[in-house]
Amino acid sequence: MLTERPGVFSGHPKEECGVFGVFGHPEAATLTHYALLTLQHRGQESAGIAVAGEREILHHKGMGLVGEVFGERVLKELSGRAAIGHVRYSTTGSSLAVNAQPLVFRHRLGALALGHNGNLVNAHLLRNRLEAEGSIFQTSLDTEVLAHLVARSKEPTLEKALTEALQQIQGGYAFVLLTERSLLGLRDPYGIRPLALGRLKGAYLLASESCAFDSLGGRFIREIEPGEMVVIDGAGIRSFQALPVAGRALCLFEFIYFARPDSLLNGLSVHSVRKELGRILAQEAPAAADLVIGVPDSSLSAAAGYAEELDLPYEIGLVKNRYVGRTFIQPNEKLRNLAVRLKLNALRKVVEGQRVVLVDDSIVRGTTSRHIIRLLRQAGAKKIHLRISSAPYRFPCYYGIDTSVISELIASQKSVEDIRAEVGADSLAYPSLEGMLRAAGGRERGYCLSCFTGTYHVPVPDGAGKLVLEEK
Ligand code: AMP
Repeated sequence: MLTERPGVFSGHPKEECGVFGVFGHPEAATLTHYALLTLQHRGQESAGIAVAGEREILHHKGMGLVGEVFGERVLKELSGRAAIGHVRYSTTGSSLAVNAQPLVFRHRLGALALGHNGNLVNAHLLRNRLEAEGSIFQTSLDTEVLAHLVARSKEPTLEKALTEALQQIQGGYAFVLLTERSLLGLRDPYGIRPLALGRLKGAYLLASESCAFDSLGGRFIREIEPGEMVVIDGAGIRSFQALPVAGRALCLFEFIYFARPDSLLNGLSVHSVRKELGRILAQEAPAAADLVIGVPDSSLSAAAGYAEELDLPYEIGLVKNRYVGRTFIQPNEKLRNLAVRLKLNALRKVVEGQRVVLVDDSIVRGTTSRHIIRLLRQAGAKKIHLRISSAPYRFPCYYGIDTSVISELIASQKSVEDIRAEVGADSLAYPSLEGMLRAAGGRERGYCLSCFTGTYHVPVPDGAGKLVLEEK
């Protein structure tokens, strides 16, 4: 079995992936590069771009941040008018170069590049079957299963072959695909993972988040619908329902933590939803305090909402160093703690002698909260009221967020009071599920809440999990 590289924040859950596609622009690779820089928050482990060149699909990918993987020379070589790109943090498959995406392969109908955000819950079952029938796999990615299914299909067109393959896979996913002549985008039948359509003059764009369109000077058109496949080629754009809509269940955690505040999801501004989460939290769990601070960056909008609702000063109490590398190995606990201090520092001037409300977006294992509360105490905070802008995270996600096993999720093991004691806060509160849904525009908009409720839209077969394809 391959093992994960430990990171500085080895107790942290992992982010998922970001995908992007462009069709009909002479600088397709450069645009994709910029878009991936904008989507970097969705995955920092590897990055890749595939371009539809004159006669073949060219690609380059590697481990590390987008800026580390791509330079001017590489981008110049990737010339073409259509491209897809991917940033990854492993959800299925180990942290290895061979698992970087896009996956590029040749099959009966031509060349195909694939970029995937999400997780296929039945990948291990399909892979067992395919291997028994003679398929050879080169990666431990669930994405490769889709490639094999497409390659084996007898259908006459790629769209039909893809549709046939999609009928066999289950999970939460958004795919971008590139052929020598077209760009395709598709989303799972529940719309668990996001995917949006945009335009930049004559070119079409696809991206996990609309902030990627903004950074290119493009505009957001609409979200891809659950089960929808869009095909963009020289004739324009076509769309059809590849799979029947099974429901609407966008991952609520996209709003809470993953997405950038300047993105639109489910027709709503991520920043506004976070701010509303903060307001509702303040109504449900007010605290007697002198000021409100947030954990940068994902909690700042919620902290602002909390402060506004209670008419408390909103302050900057923690400073984040954005330039610390993510994955250098720290051999012992002492150095790991130092590395955390390198990343975040408390502002003594602001918190000393104060009763502080500390807003964070989530507690997964509890490591981060414990560290931050210690930092604030050392900086002289008198009281620390921890307010979390999402309900207790109790169940593992199988649809593309790597939050590991249930035994490591503190809220599935302990009561709120025990968690409070363990992280060292003076008080701790979470919003209600109803409150959270209200902040996100209401239950009727359709959200996946499985990490909060343990109810899974797509049934999860036995054995599904992050390293299942290596453990076989
Ligand atoms: P933990 O230390 O495990 O309790 O992690 C919770 C912290 O990690 C919170 O401050 C979140 O902002 C952040 N977080 C939540 N979900 C994720 C995720 N999937 N990947 C990385 N960080 C996360």
